[in-house]
Amino acid sequence: MDFEYSDKVQDLRTRLTAFMDEHVYPIEAERDHFHEDPAKLWQVWPGTEGIKAKAREVGLWNVFLPHEYEPWSPGLTNLEYAPLAELMGRVFGASEYFNCAAPDTGNMEILAKYGTSKQQKQWLEPLLAGDIRSAYVMTEPGVASSDATNIETSIIPDGDDYVINGRKWWISGVMDPRCKVYILLGRTPNADAPRHRQHSQIIIPADTPGIEIVRPLNVFESVHSPGGHCEMQFTNVRVPKANLLLGEGRGFEIAQGRLGPGRIHHCMRLIGQAQRAVEYMAHRVDSRVAFGKKLADQSSIRQDIALSFCEIEQARLLTLKAADAMDRYGNKVAKDLIAAIKIVAPTMAQRVADRAMQAFGAMGFTKDTPIAAAFLAARFLRMADGPDEAHMSQLGKLKIAEYLALPRR
Ligand SMILES: Cc1cc2nc3c(=O)[nH]c(=O)nc-3n(C[C@H](O)[C@H](O)[C@H](O)COP(=O)(O)OP(=O)(O)OC[C@H]3O[C@@H](n4cnc5c(N)ncnc54)[C@H](O)[C@@H]3O)c2cc1C
Repeated sequence: MDFEYSDKVQDLRTRLTAFMDEHVYPIEAERDHFHEDPAKLWQVWPGTEGIKAKAREVGLWNVFLPHEYEPWSPGLTNLEYAPLAELMGRVFGASEYFNCAAPDTGNMEILAKYGTSKQQKQWLEPLLAGDIRSAYVMTEPGVASSDATNIETSIIPDGDDYVINGRKWWISGVMDPRCKVYILLGRTPNADAPRHRQHSQIIIPADTPGIEIVRPLNVFESVHSPGGHCEMQFTNVRVPKANLLLGEGRGFEIAQGRLGPGRIHHCMRLIGQAQRAVEYMAHRVDSRVAFGKKLADQSSIRQDIALSFCEIEQARLLTLKAADAMDRYGNKVAKDLIAAIKIVAPTMAQRVADRAMQAFGAMGFTKDTPIAAAFLAARFLRMADGPDEAHMSQLGKLKIAEYLALPRR
């Protein structure tokens, strides 16, 4: 067991930090203002593509894609990527500059793992090049979607095509003008199949007739331009049978492969957000005096910083352990650790950001620091990719079975 980052990772971290210092931190406020400007709704900040090109030029590109997908992958393991995702996570949305943003990363992994060579040529290659973006279409307003076996949108064979009908919502990224393709999870009815073999995943080009964007939803007070999160109606949407991924009834097999890495990437980024929040907090409390004492000298403030350090470090170690288990044993075997970190990281980041907000005084609630945004992101990430309770329920079941298999001593 080695708790140090390897020389390769140290080098990448140094290069990534230098890149963020030069290209990302300086434009953060300008980009955020642009995306919050109602006159610029659903437009992409014009500097985005330039920064992507620079990241690609210096080899900080697609670093999320594990080495088993070489030659597409630049060759890192999940364990090596984790500390890089943490650094990217310090600036909300920065992972896009490195082509490491959700939901594209999960969709790229699906296409790399399960796509045919034709599907890969048509969709994976432009995604890997950062020329287009994508959405993952699962959640529905009509059913409890944390249990994805409830999903009702139908995928029905008809001649050489499948026809898709249903209502979806919370679909991230579809308002982005670069979003050209969706991967949709729906039901391919088969009364004889068990509950987990009744769903499939299918590729749908965004410009297919029959797709209506009903409305963008807001998360607290923001619509998260330029991607948004949308309610969508699919009415007799027709795509060729060749667009089905892997085969009828194999949707959950794919979902398991996709959500593991996706979940852990969110957790890595949350650790970066929490780390940045506590660093901001330290600077603030060192420069403010209240009741004759620096805030940094108040014991409750020191406790808050100490607790934040402990919790960040715990979450970081657990994330690295989960990433290592994914590399060694595969996502399926690592599912307990993946669930554990998905439960731990968002709540940890929310708590740390909450302490930092409080220590900042009223300024903590503004957009003058990244802390309030970190707090909100951590909160909604306790829901996105499945609510905490669903992960706890599955993890609890798994662990009860595991402990029961042990002899009672
Ligand atoms: C910002 C954001 C972005 C998102 N992006 C996408 C996206 O791109 N694509 C997509 O398809 N979806 C997306 N989602 C949707 C998200 O994945 C779902 O909201 C989530 O899976 C929960 O489904 P639901 O909303 O139907 O809640 P429900 O399934 O109705 O669950 C409601 C509540 O029931 C409780 N609950 C559920 N299961 C259990 C249990 N086993 N034990 C105890 N309590 C339980 C939990 O408290 C849960 O929050 C996004 C959501 C958010 C907030």
